[in-house]
Amino acid sequence: MGKQEWGFKENHELHAAAAFTIRNILEAIMRNIDEKRSGKPMIHLGHGDPSIYPCFRASTSVEDALVESIRSTKFNGYPAGVGIDPTRSAIAEYLSKDLPYDITNDDVFLTAGGNHAIGVALTVLGRPGANILFPRPNYPVYEARARFSQLEVRHFDLLPEKGWEVDLDCVKSLADSKTVAIVLINPGNPCGNVFTFDHMKKIAETARELGILVIADEVYAHQVFGEKPFIPMGVLGDIAPVLTLGSLSKRWIVPGWRFGWIAINDPTSILQQTGVAGSLKSCLTISADPPTVIQGAIPRVIKSTPTSFFLNTNKLLKESADLFFEKVKEIPLVACPHKPEGSMFAMVKLNIPAFEDIVDDTDFCMKLAKEECMIVFPGDAVCLKNWVRVSIASEPKVLEDAVGRMKAFCLKHAKHQ
Ligand SMILES: *Cc1c(COP(=O)(O)O)cnc(C)c1O
Repeated sequence: MGKQEWGFKENHELHAAAAFTIRNILEAIMRNIDEKRSGKPMIHLGHGDPSIYPCFRASTSVEDALVESIRSTKFNGYPAGVGIDPTRSAIAEYLSKDLPYDITNDDVFLTAGGNHAIGVALTVLGRPGANILFPRPNYPVYEARARFSQLEVRHFDLLPEKGWEVDLDCVKSLADSKTVAIVLINPGNPCGNVFTFDHMKKIAETARELGILVIADEVYAHQVFGEKPFIPMGVLGDIAPVLTLGSLSKRWIVPGWRFGWIAINDPTSILQQTGVAGSLKSCLTISADPPTVIQGAIPRVIKSTPTSFFLNTNKLLKESADLFFEKVKEIPLVACPHKPEGSMFAMVKLNIPAFEDIVDDTDFCMKLAKEECMIVFPGDAVCLKNWVRVSIASEPKVLEDAVGRMKAFCLKHAKHQ
């Protein structure tokens, strides 16, 4: 018999997009981890998931809400494509508290997590020839998804010497008549920065001048612990329309629940008029839903999680940020130019020429995993070469141990004078 010919084949574009995801990069670094050989417990500062640490355990009210949702038997059926109404209303009410106007259930679309929300937003905006403005550094899922939608990516810089503010001149020079949107992540991942109102107003005015939408990734909403308050971009929705992306993963520390949302902040109804709101609905109708029982739990999750839970999380993150920022100064060949004031991350710059045998950030992460049994995330994967992203969301003891290991590693690999 001759060799069978099949009509299907491997999808190389998918590999190229997936290579960009945090999960894939972490898997590659993980292969260098061997706790037995190194004789040390693994320290994972590679992602923003502190749910394994007892001090970051989700509120029991959140667990109760899910149990009640399951037991009610009201949420065993299919949900509407955009999500069930009581949950859309609960989120609209929750978000409206911080806005100068009210949004309604019709402005809220439920997604299976923030990453799904990113996928939906980019799918809706993509069309042949269109381009989108991303920050550099960026959250990698945007890069991966954009490769899979009809959007050319253009990067504007965040400026470390200005507390990671947006380089607005750069934004203006990149945009043209085919630009659809600008993405902002505030509080910031990977930089741990928080934008001021004045800066956000300038961004909104720039977006209006350019005729583009603002995608405000606020999955770290309210997770601030420095001087600056968290202000949602929707506050400026009357200047330029805003799509706000939110999630349960970070603030409630249940990333495994896979629940998020897209909210339209558009008091002047531009997204209705241009049909973008309708497109969002159509996109969600043909994509995955968050499980109905999770949706059913959300109104109670939002209503009954005690304020003390959020205050405690921010207190822990602040202690970690203080500790990390002080201790990292003792490490030779690295520098953290801006103390984290929000989210769960710090960006650390590597002085690559001063290392004896480390060629770049990825090499640094791979060897650090192998020799010190610890994981940090390569800057290259967040579009900033020769930096690393460190998650500060862990226990102080662990963080201190981690900084000690990084110091020993840097001393060992420093060029001999
Ligand atoms: C974690 C994260 C998300 C995704 O959140 P999930 O709800 O867990 O999918 C989106 N954007 C940013 C900036 C994040 O850090």
